[in-house]
Amino acid sequence: MNGVTFFLGVNFVVAVCFSAVFTVVATRSRSRRAALWLAAGFGIASLSALCELLVAYTATPKIWALGAFATVLIGMMLLRVGMGHLYGRRLDKRIAAFFVGASIVLSYVIYDLPRGTPLQAFSYQSPFAIVLLDSAFVVLSFRGRQMIDRFLGVLMLFTGLHFLAKAGLAVWVGAGSGAKDYIHTNYALISQSTTAILVVAVGLTLLAALVLEIMADQRSESERDTLSTIANRRGFNRQVQAFLGAASHGQHAVILCDLDHFKRINDTYGHHVGDMVIQSFGQLMNDSAPKRAALGRIGGEEFAIFLPDTDISAAALFAQALRAATMTLPDLPDGLIVTASFGISPVTSAAGLVDSYRQADLALYAAKNAGRNQVRLTALNEAEASDKHVDTRV
Ligand code: GH3
Ligand code: MG
Ligand code: MG
Repeated sequence: MNGVTFFLGVNFVVAVCFSAVFTVVATRSRSRRAALWLAAGFGIASLSALCELLVAYTATPKIWALGAFATVLIGMMLLRVGMGHLYGRRLDKRIAAFFVGASIVLSYVIYDLPRGTPLQAFSYQSPFAIVLLDSAFVVLSFRGRQMIDRFLGVLMLFTGLHFLAKAGLAVWVGAGSGAKDYIHTNYALISQSTTAILVVAVGLTLLAALVLEIMADQRSESERDTLSTIANRRGFNRQVQAFLGAASHGQHAVILCDLDHFKRINDTYGHHVGDMVIQSFGQLMNDSAPKRAALGRIGGEEFAIFLPDTDISAAALFAQALRAATMTLPDLPDGLIVTASFGISPVTSAAGLVDSYRQADLALYAAKNAGRNQVRLTALNEAEASDKHVDTRV
């Protein structure tokens, strides 16, 4: 076995392994279709290594040489389709099919040209470079790209350019006198070993992008309350911390809210109606809160709202509107009117957050004591509000 045969074997095994792994990832991923296209891409591309071996060791090298070219190009095109799904740039199927067909015809036409001439070398490698550079463009032009996407884009760019460099190298050092000769050349050794490295790098990076997506999905699932569909306590805290960590000091507000006499609702109408109220209240919060607000169900029938860049009187107005809307929650049994009590505190920094929650909790307690179905500010803010004649009560 010579060095090239060894690398062909490596490329085959690596591509088959990636194909299998992407098939498995597809069962867990939200980007299922993308993962399946990637699996198909690596699967088809793996066949090219077998074709290359058949070129060297059978009496019909031309057909296998065309097979090697076609399987690599189709494999790359399928990877491009997968990336199009991942990064929101679909590929026109007819253009793709035409491009692949025309490239195979071109590779047939140039088959008998002397190897290592610029025309032969660049005609052979350019279709690969074009598909890969287009993939790089798809990834790099994606708006929501993260570190891993940027890395993938640069890697695809490098891989695309490497095919053009290969053409240059073939011209420079020669690529054997014919297809059968290829496997015994130094050029083939360099070409197959760099391809082995790049196949592994591209495969691992694509895999990392999909796995990171699955992890992000699972985290957001673990931070969501399934009944109210808003964040749970953990998700709420993380959103608030992330906001306060990123923002410079400003005036924000936190509203704590507790449904009134909820135990009585459960006892009178049944637990399932209690659940419906929580669901409906979560929906109301979602519909009425500003886009940038963080919403959380932080206890059984306790909720929290963080309003960024909102002063205390604007927060009080919002809470009043929410309080009023709570009394007309839809689709509940006749005669059931749900009410809620609210406590509000200003938030100025991450360091003062615990104290703000405590203040809001005291205000909520005051609202409960004052008869429920009320909005209360912290004692200090109540005094200021009354100075400004802002009515925070029912
Ligand atoms: P208050 O006005 O003082 O807040 O009275 P309350 O009855 O609302 O408060 P309490 O803390 O005494 O009772 C809360 C009840 O909420 C008790 C618990 O069974 C119920 N609860 C908590 N989580 C859920 C839930 O997910 N579904 C239902 N149906 N009930 C829940
Ligand atoms: Mg309650
Ligand atoms: Mg409670």
